[in-house]
Amino acid sequence: MSTAKLNPSQQAAVECLDGPLLLLAGAGTGKTRVIIHRIANLIRHDVPPEAILAVTFTNKAAKEMRERVAGLLTPAVAEKITVNTFHAFCVQVLRRHIHLLGYGNNFTIATEGYQKGLIREIATQLNMVREGCSPNLWLALISRAKSALETPDDMRRKELPYAADLATVYQQYQKRLQQMDLVDFDDLLGLTVRLWTEQPQVLAQYRERYRYLMIDEYQDTNAVQLRLMVLLAGSRANICVVGDDDQSIYGWRGADLGNILEFETHFPAARVIRLEQNYRSTNRILHAANVLISKNKSRRVKNLWSEEGQGEKLLAVCCLDEHDEANFAAEYILGKSGGSQWQRFAVLVRAGHQTRVLEETFRKRRVPYVLVGANSFYQRKEILDVISFLQLIQNPRDNLALLRIINVPPRGAGEVTVDKLRELGQISGAPLGELLTNNALLQAIPADSARNLADFHKLLAEARHDFATPGCIFTKTEKYLKAIRYIEGLAQMYKPREDALQRRDNVLEFLSSMAEFDQRNPAGTLGEYLEIFALHDANDRREKDRNTGDNAVTLMTVHAAKGLEYPVVLVVGMEQGLFPNQMALDEGNEEEERRLCYVAITRAKQELVLSYAERRRVMNRVVAKRPSKFLDELPADDVVFTTPKLAIAPASDTDIKKYLAQMRAQFKPQE
Ligand code: ATP
Ligand code: MG
Repeated sequence: MSTAKLNPSQQAAVECLDGPLLLLAGAGTGKTRVIIHRIANLIRHDVPPEAILAVTFTNKAAKEMRERVAGLLTPAVAEKITVNTFHAFCVQVLRRHIHLLGYGNNFTIATEGYQKGLIREIATQLNMVREGCSPNLWLALISRAKSALETPDDMRRKELPYAADLATVYQQYQKRLQQMDLVDFDDLLGLTVRLWTEQPQVLAQYRERYRYLMIDEYQDTNAVQLRLMVLLAGSRANICVVGDDDQSIYGWRGADLGNILEFETHFPAARVIRLEQNYRSTNRILHAANVLISKNKSRRVKNLWSEEGQGEKLLAVCCLDEHDEANFAAEYILGKSGGSQWQRFAVLVRAGHQTRVLEETFRKRRVPYVLVGANSFYQRKEILDVISFLQLIQNPRDNLALLRIINVPPRGAGEVTVDKLRELGQISGAPLGELLTNNALLQAIPADSARNLADFHKLLAEARHDFATPGCIFTKTEKYLKAIRYIEGLAQMYKPREDALQRRDNVLEFLSSMAEFDQRNPAGTLGEYLEIFALHDANDRREKDRNTGDNAVTLMTVHAAKGLEYPVVLVVGMEQGLFPNQMALDEGNEEEERRLCYVAITRAKQELVLSYAERRRVMNRVVAKRPSKFLDELPADDVVFTTPKLAIAPASDTDIKKYLAQMRAQFKPQE
């Protein structure tokens, strides 16, 4: 293995093969690179590849890590190393052992939409719908409790408003999921902890196999993830974690900064290595990042430096409104890219909704882009409907999937049918899918609908049988979508025609993703496909652009950009209330917002452009905005405050002042 490209501290970490090791270092100092080289070094020291487990934060990071490890070793060896996210790793464990906890091994994973629907239903049934307690809030609190390994009883004892109600909903929610052989995202981790705690002989098998553990982005792990690793590491404690306390940005989701700051308490005798040389950014960018983050009180002080030269000053660009800002971003990129090097650019937003105007503008101005994150392809209604149909085939007890598609496409199963079905389900406790041919139901609904439901029931049974035998899942899915006349149904469900056509294209695109899966996994099953789908996280859902492939500008949230780097980064919407986000400020989380801004800044290698608008549309009102306080906190010497026009065609300071004065005169804010 070549060690030429590691500095002495990195080298020391790569060579420290046994015992607990913490690599605590700032952005771009090569933490992820150390993990990759350490894996290669373990192999060089005859550690069997099967014994290595490396955990990353997103699927995208896992994929990249796998590729980079394969580059250092032979692909055959690399393939045997487990590189996964916590969730994907736990799914593998549960697939084999979940029956020991009373679930079926063909369990399916509940999506967010399912979770909310279920919570809403439980709260309604228990007559617990309260003002100020939306299903979203309840779900968030339940999820928080699960990530902290708290049971409903723990919750009951808490000093929260409605603690008793919440505990009851939590308890019911867990019970209902289990009845349907459904697990949610938090369960993937929580049930694995339960399995390993309750079944020591199972834990022993895993300890025997995974003898070298490595975790990237450790600052964003939560209590349940820590528990998992403590259990798996056992007294051998061969665990190496890398992270940066300044980049902890998932506190709102239960991540516990204590995990990294108290690593030495959880794993006594841990060795700690620090890195200070940054290999990513110019010194101006780094200096700005250092100065900004030094405003946070609770942190371990570090000082990053780099040999990448001084670099260009940062630009802070004042735009009129969000359209002006999007136009500026498009024009800046068009000018700098030379019309070809699009992949050098990333545009980062604090909130997912900001991408809409940017997307519209980029399309209009012909800037090729890929959107990573939220409202993307896999969250579209028509795609989720197809997924529910497949989930119901896979897991006959999945009532939520059934209710979602019982009348998609319309087969005369309206509200009356659904109410009757639910009623029967409550009386008999049977999965709703089994009740589709129940006489009491069929007699209560019109003959046409009854016939349709009986046909649907038959078709599901046939499909289950069919999918259980080997063969392309693409061909089978296509066959059963045809059988339920799904594509034809789109025209009936969606108006105008263009909308239906767009959705048809999306479904066809989805089918081609299945065909790709078949090609890559000739022996793949429907269960495996659904799993990959469910484990897609918001951070790696990508809008695919057929015309440009990978050569495109990346548009994404700052959260999704963690761990990545780009030559030119534009952060848009640098306004008070947007970045820092108002809700976070209200909850006293300004420090986490500042860390998020630090993550954004440190993604840039050569150029960093920050823009803000003087007014912005918020719902149906246009409101005046103030620049983000983070802009004021940047070192004045490293930043040029400017305008869109001048940022694109630089001019003298006097010109800038004149232009700014002119623009302010034009615009009279009305609060
Ligand atoms: P982040 O905190 O953002 O996750 P990181 O600490 O994981 O960053 P890496 O992504 O591993 O940092 O490395 C940052 C960049 O520096 C990468 O392009 C990497 O290849 C490069 N790099 C790291 N160490 C060295 C080195 N010793 N010599 C040359 N390049 C290096
Ligand atoms: Mg990294």
